Amino acid sequence: MQEHVHEHVNIWQEVKGQLEMQLEDNTYEEIFNSVDSVFKVKNNFIYLLVENDFIKRRIELLYLQRMNRLLENYVDERYEYRIITKKQAEEELNKAKSYDIRTPEDVEQKEMYVRSNLNPSYTFSNFVVGNSNRLAYTSSIKVADQPGIVANPLYIFGDVGLGKTHLMQCVGNYILEGDINKRVLYVKADQFVEDYVRYSSKKKYNEFNAMYRNVDVLLVDDIQFLAKKEKSQEEFFKLFEQLHNEQKQIVITSDRKASDLRDIMSRLTSRFSWGVTVDINRPDLDHRIKILEKKLMAETSETNLMPTKVIEYIASVFDNNVRELEGALKRVLFYCTAFDYDFTIKNAEIALENLIKPKRHNQDFVRDKVRNVLSVVSDYYNISTSDLVSKKRARQYLYPRQISMYLIKEMFDLPYKRIGSYFSNRDHSTVMHSVEKIGNDLQLDKDVHVDVEKLKHKCGEK
Ligand code: ADP
Ligand code: MG
Repeated sequence: MQEHVHEHVNIWQEVKGQLEMQLEDNTYEEIFNSVDSVFKVKNNFIYLLVENDFIKRRIELLYLQRMNRLLENYVDERYEYRIITKKQAEEELNKAKSYDIRTPEDVEQKEMYVRSNLNPSYTFSNFVVGNSNRLAYTSSIKVADQPGIVANPLYIFGDVGLGKTHLMQCVGNYILEGDINKRVLYVKADQFVEDYVRYSSKKKYNEFNAMYRNVDVLLVDDIQFLAKKEKSQEEFFKLFEQLHNEQKQIVITSDRKASDLRDIMSRLTSRFSWGVTVDINRPDLDHRIKILEKKLMAETSETNLMPTKVIEYIASVFDNNVRELEGALKRVLFYCTAFDYDFTIKNAEIALENLIKPKRHNQDFVRDKVRNVLSVVSDYYNISTSDLVSKKRARQYLYPRQISMYLIKEMFDLPYKRIGSYFSNRDHSTVMHSVEKIGNDLQLDKDVHVDVEKLKHKCGEK
């Protein structure tokens, strides 16, 4: 462990050298010159010791991201810098008088984290709960508390950026925290496929099995990436069977319901509903505000740096997903701190201008394009646009409606739910089935193919 800290002291000197080249002399002198010590390295966080709170805050707000990016060039694993003041460090040392940064648990813990592939910063305590994710959250806690017993597998689905990966990793981190000897493995489904291809091409099945089968908890992220990878599915099926039989906990995430997974053998997907399935939806305004407040605390350790009004403003504009919301907050923080501006709505607007404009522009643009598709299709089939988007089930409307959904998906790749909103609020799965049906018909039926090509042409696609 001592060596470990040592190694990071050296790496920090390198990173510092880079900063010296990138930053203005004054800034560098003032902030970084005296930062030389690594207080500790724990769970892949490297704690740099700084003189006082002022420097800590400035680094956190303005330079930490840059430092972490530079750090990536010097380490193979995931490490991040954290800043700790001398005062905090002393307090920590006093708290545990016998504290020793070289405790064996530290070494052990770090190794487990590396092996598990988990990011220790995803915890239940920094996951903000609201209506849109409450069930997913409580189910995950139950699973983390009694792995293999209450819900196996736990299947979490929802759109991108809503916290699936975060929640799934909480389960792993919680279990490891409780028992460092538990073998937890987090893997993205595409990584599983890659591993399988690599090991099987070298016929190293034993190594592959050693890696995946000797686990107590398996977390598989974005299972939809198994689509069309039949051999990998076969292998995953065997793995699933074995772990499930042994009551080893499996958690799976996906961008859709198990029954909507395409090109994955139903033998496998049907097993995903053996346990408990939960979904995560978009957070409402209050929930988004709470998320921002929590992130703000984590970023700045200051409670009222940003007025509520500004937080509410950001939350009202970025309603799509949490990742976007986080990005917007960071931008405002950066902008106002870097130039020493007040945190006002006006300044937030300026800071976010580049994010908001394309968003608005894009939304208007896409809406016009979609309207164009609807009018082209209704002309082509000689029906009214209002019938086209209605819920009427007559064949003369049904087929053009499916065709329009297919075209919109193809041309603009909008989320299914959003496409549904143009058709009297049809749900996600109706739209998805229509798109898939036309996609299949295209291959089999020449007339459908001709229709689609002509329509694309009329819509100005070709
Ligand atoms: P997904 O896997 O569903 O695409 P992620 O888990 O990667 O989404 O979440 C995107 C970002 O938003 C992450 O930084 C995550 O920490 C954050 N996030 C999502 N939901 C929440 C939440 N409820 N509370 C706090 N942070 C969240
Ligand atoms: Mg994810």
